[in-house]
Amino acid sequence: KKRIVSGIQPTGSVHLGNYLGAIKNWIPLQDVYETLFFIVDLHAITLPYDAQELSKATRTTAAIYLACGVDVSKASVFVQSHVRAHVELMWLLSSATPIGWLNRMIQFKEKSRKMGDENVGVALLTYPVLMASDILLYQSDLVPVGEDQKQHLELTRELAGRLNFLYGGRKWKKMGGRGGAIFKVPEPLIPPSGARVMSLTDGLSKMSKSAPSDQSRINLLDPKDVVANKIKRCKTDSYPGMEFDNPDRPECNNLLTIYQLVSGKTKEEVSQECQDMNWGTFKTLLADTIIDHLHPIQVRYEEIMTDSAYLDRILVEGATKASNIADATLNNVYQAMGFLKR
Ligand code: ATP
Ligand code: MG
Repeated sequence: KKRIVSGIQPTGSVHLGNYLGAIKNWIPLQDVYETLFFIVDLHAITLPYDAQELSKATRTTAAIYLACGVDVSKASVFVQSHVRAHVELMWLLSSATPIGWLNRMIQFKEKSRKMGDENVGVALLTYPVLMASDILLYQSDLVPVGEDQKQHLELTRELAGRLNFLYGGRKWKKMGGRGGAIFKVPEPLIPPSGARVMSLTDGLSKMSKSAPSDQSRINLLDPKDVVANKIKRCKTDSYPGMEFDNPDRPECNNLLTIYQLVSGKTKEEVSQECQDMNWGTFKTLLADTIIDHLHPIQVRYEEIMTDSAYLDRILVEGATKASNIADATLNNVYQAMGFLKR
């Protein structure tokens, strides 16, 4: 079976964008691939954060994975910091990462620009090396990536190639390795189209956890009335009817796309159904459909959160399974790089 890894940061609350763009797409993958889904808590400290909130958000995010249908009889679910190999491999990888590669990362440039050198932690710059470690440790074949992570995956691939060149191959074979590559070079798995969910208050920027206004996103755990209210108040336009793909109507396109994804209908069906609706009618339909879709997830979430021992056990089991794979890779890398065997 080919192996897939993916994760979400435990910062803020999981929103419809994370769900429709990531978690929901994971569910069918579990049957076809060997899957590892983790909560990337080590990535969550690359920007200023609240230490009190981190562990809470980590559990919440894990519970949301399960509530959305991640099935631990098929997938491994674990917390990144529980598998120490992530940080260890990152150090080894960083020795071979040219700083110029990191300086070129768009996310670093965007996130650091507003902060000034005295406030930007080094970890924000080296974030992609940790992400490479997350992927390469598991010899992953495929990595689901949104638009925002494409450049980081490309760096991961380059790093894998570089380490394989520097320390793999014949040199490594002579030292007792299996020969060939130390790391598998992963391929991107592009999610189904339309999986980029935009903000409710601006159809041109993506829905995001770190956006200051809570009105800009639907959180997976938002109660009914909050969802209804956010949809009622979200940005509209003054055109008649509803239509996909009109560049002058990004909000309309986004809300129709959300409706399509949560209703499970095709684009054509949604087009037909909604083309003659006014905003009021469409918004009521959309709000009801989102609420219905989220309801079973929220019920399941509450169940999971009432049994904290269950969640703890799953995370321990997940970390154990993940560590077995990760430690094997890490030991190979130490050996290939010439460290004395312990
Ligand atoms: P932040 O604003 O803190 O970066 P985020 O909302 O981008 O938070 P991440 O934890 O960075 O969330 O991303 C988790 C996953 O969700 C990634 O696979 C990412 O591609 C996906 N994702 C994030 N936002 C969206 C969105 N608006 N539409 C579709 N997918 C998204
Ligand atoms: Mg992000």
